[in-house]
Formats: sequence, C-alpha cells, structure tokens
Amino acid sequence: MKNSDIADELSLLSKMLDLHNQDAELAKSLSNAAFQIDRYTSEMSSMPRNNIYQLRGITNAIADFIFELLDTNTLNILQHWLQNTPDGILQMMQIKGLGPKKLRIVWKEMNIENPSELLYACNENRLVAYKGFGEKLQQSILDATEFYLNSNGKYLYAKVKYFSEQLLLYFTQLKKWQVSLTGDIRRQSNIIEFVEYVIVGKAESIASNLDAQYFTEINIEDKIILCTSHGIPIKLYCCKANEFGTLVFTTTGSSDFVNDFQNQYSISTCSDEAEIFTSQQLPFISPVIREYTVANTLALPQNNWIQFADIKGIIHNHSTYSDGANTLQEMALACKNSGYAYLVISDHSQYAAYANGLRPERIAEQHKEIEELNKTLAPFKIFKSIECDILPDGNLDYTSEILNSFDVIVASVHSVLNMTEEKAMARLLKAIENPYTNILGHPTGRLLLGRAGYPLDMKKIIDACAANNVVLELNANPRRLDLDWQWLPYAVEKNVLISINPDAHKVEGIADNEYGVYAAQKAGLLASQNLSSFTLQQFEQFIIHQHTKRP
Ligand SMILES: [Zn+2]
Ligand SMILES: [Zn+2]
Repeated sequence: MKNSDIADELSLLSKMLDLHNQDAELAKSLSNAAFQIDRYTSEMSSMPRNNIYQLRGITNAIADFIFELLDTNTLNILQHWLQNTPDGILQMMQIKGLGPKKLRIVWKEMNIENPSELLYACNENRLVAYKGFGEKLQQSILDATEFYLNSNGKYLYAKVKYFSEQLLLYFTQLKKWQVSLTGDIRRQSNIIEFVEYVIVGKAESIASNLDAQYFTEINIEDKIILCTSHGIPIKLYCCKANEFGTLVFTTTGSSDFVNDFQNQYSISTCSDEAEIFTSQQLPFISPVIREYTVANTLALPQNNWIQFADIKGIIHNHSTYSDGANTLQEMALACKNSGYAYLVISDHSQYAAYANGLRPERIAEQHKEIEELNKTLAPFKIFKSIECDILPDGNLDYTSEILNSFDVIVASVHSVLNMTEEKAMARLLKAIENPYTNILGHPTGRLLLGRAGYPLDMKKIIDACAANNVVLELNANPRRLDLDWQWLPYAVEKNVLISINPDAHKVEGIADNEYGVYAAQKAGLLASQNLSSFTLQQFEQFIIHQHTKRP
C-alpha cells in the first residue's frame, strides 16, 4: 500500500469518526497524520516498522492503524463505520463544502438522507434555519449538489431544455445545417441522458466542423457523433437528406412506439417525417406523445392540449409564514403582475416543524393579512389554504374547527416516507376520504433522480379520488413532476381533476408551472381538465362545491 492510499484511508476514518460523533481527538490526529503522510518522500511500506513511530504526526494508535493497513489492506474500525453509514450519506460526503460535522447535522437534525433530498431542501431554503448554515453556505451546497447529481449522467428536462434549443439555433442558423431535435428531449421526457439531434451530412465532416471551444470528447461511432457541450452529453445522428424524415421518426419515438408502428405499418424512406403518417392515412402524431402503442397514442386528444398560457391561478405555494423565501405580499404581487387571477397560499401545517409549519395563532395572523391584502389587490384574490401534513396514521394535522377556516386544503405526505404499500395505501386512502381534503399534493413523494416514491396502487388512489371528489396534483417542480404524466389518462377517464401547481417557495418558483404543462402535454391533457386553468369565478364555484363535503 502506497503512502497516498494510507493517507486516504486515515482521512476517511477521521471523517467517519466526526460524522458519527466519535472520539474527536483521534479524528483530529488522524486528519493531521493523513496530511503529513501525503508529504513523506519515502514509502512507509519499505520502512522498518520501528521508524514509523518516529515520523511526524504518527501517534502509537495511528502507527497501529498503519500496520493494519500494510498487513491487511483494510482497517476494521473503518469498515465498521462505513457499514453503519447509509449509502446516501456516503454520497453526500462527495459534495464539496459539506464537511463531516455539517453533514452530521444534515443527516441527524434535518433528516436528509441523500443528495436529491439535500438539493430539494436547499431549494426550499431549509438549511438556513440551522446553526452554522448561512445563506451563502446553503447556496454553495446547492451548487455543489447540483453538480454532483448532474455528473451522474442524467439530467432533468428543465436543466437541458433551453440549452437544447440554443444548440438547435446554433446548428441551423450558424452552421446552416438541416437539423431536428430527436429522442427523449423531443418527447419532453422528464429525464434526459443525451440531447439528441438528426443532422443531414457526413459524420466526419460534421464532426470536423464542430467548434472545439464548445464541443469536447468528440467520437464517431457508425454515423453517430457522440460529444459533450458544457458538460452535457450530445448525440448527433447523421444521414442523407432523403432519409432525414425516416431517421427523425425512428429516433424520436420510444422503442415501444416505434416497434409497434413498424409491426403495423411500413416506414417509408422519406425526407419529411410527416410523409410516414400521410402515406398510411394516419394523422400526424405529435412526437410528445409517442410513448406507448400506436393505438394508445391515437386514443389521446391529438390537439388543443393545455398550454402554459392556460394557467389562470397559482395553487399550492409557500411564503415566509412557513419555509418560503418571499412574503405573502411579494408572492401575491408577483402573481398579480404576471396576469394571474388568484393565488392559493398553502404554507406547511404544524406537524412539519422542520419547515416552520403554522401553529393555530400563525394561521389566524395569516388569514388576517390575506383579508387585508384582498381589499387592496381586488379583483385579484388570495385564497386561504394550507399544505396539511397527512400524519402517519392518515389523519390531517389540525382539528376540524381549524380545517374549516381554510378555503382549500392540499393534503400531502412529508415524513415517515419509508412505508410498505399496505401502510402507504391505508394512510393515503384515509386522507383522500377525509371530507376536508380537496387536493392530494405530490401524490407519490418521489424526487426525480433522487428517491422513488412510496409504493402505491395508483389505480386505487385515482379511484378513491374519483369517489371522494379529490383533485390530484401534478406538482410542477421539475424535480417532482408528481403525479407522473403516465397516470393522467386514467385519471381523466375517471373524471378526476388534475391541478398543475408550482409548489413555489419563492417568486421565481411560480414559473415552474411551465414544466408541469410540458409533462401534462405528454398525456394530451386539456385545459378544462386542469383546476389551475379555472377562471377566478370557476375556482370560487369549485370551492363552494368542495365545501358541501364538509360535515
Ligand atoms: Zn409538500
Ligand atoms: Zn408545498
């Protein structure tokens, strides 16, 4: 074992001891020894053992660790602590700027167990509530975590959408190439591995025309150019002009869709993709919905899908009353100035203590402020709402009396996420059946590229929402997009309303609705099927109707 490896092992042990709050003294001397060992010019493996005791920074205890490493290539005590550290915590140790002592607070006090949860907490401005975590540190942890997650090779649609459009312009306008977006990004998929294009031209000549200052790691494999730009992986399919349409078609659809199409129809060689449909007397199927079988796809509405401009009200948002970064007034003004008709403010309920959830006194205070703001902002209107925790037993977080004081109740699960399907179903069904529940918030609790949701029988959840007249949220935060678009057709079939909500924790978050709309388009959702597209008057009617459920 080389000195540098020994130093790494001792340094990791030092971090583990700090992380688990063990022997601070030993941790400190280990870290110091690791630093010194890295600078020794002669290898300890070829030294007489007695000499090792004489080296700078080496105590007797540390010398024993070194001998153990030299003899066995491993350290028992280190293995012990590694085995007692969850994978997500080990992953977070790779995040720059998050030392073991801070990580301990993140883990033990904030109950954050993996990088995605950490990123989410930073975005929700949650770290600053803890001692030693200022706004600056939170921002640098956020940046480092994003970097860490991106380097896993997968990207949220929101992260690469505008980049992909810029690159398309660069290809078409600067390079004058005939180009189309293709693949996952053309289908508005939630998660993207490559940004893909079809380009007319020879792979070798296109590759040699890619400016080295923007494109790196250029490789050609069988008419496909693989490269990266700004660290994002790119795939360029190269072809002749007369096969352009065919290649765009075969690389756009999911393999399920393309295979199914191929089994039923012939795919002609053509320069224009539209010919593939017209030659089979089929309507042009939008690339966005080419996911399942052709028949499934054709059963969806083919046009008039919901657009971003169809969002009329901003539902499910947070303010400084709980864990938001902007005041209620700032949130309301931002909505009003952007032309929205209403804001539904849904701060966290009292059970969510980590998010500064509202105790009854604070609710009264907020309601008073809403009433005052509504006088000055009319006809714009703020609705009294709460994102009410669904407690582990399925009950809502307040008494009926308090629940009655809200216009709208968004019920969500935020804690005790590790559940069997049986437990999760019982918990959610009880909440859906609660007569105060109007909207089920982020139904599965998943974080894209982060954590799977709790296990649910989603059909049964949708059936229960239908039976109890509960709206299903499509949380538009690009990291959630929960409920997943795949379930929208079934919800629509059961007449369950969807609500595209930004869950904004600051003014900028309001615009996240855009990504909810892109996801909803993948299911052909219409504006009339979305609650947040209701006009103010329709929304007030909706509330009156919902309140008839209350005892
Ligand atoms: Zn929530
Ligand atoms: Zn929320």
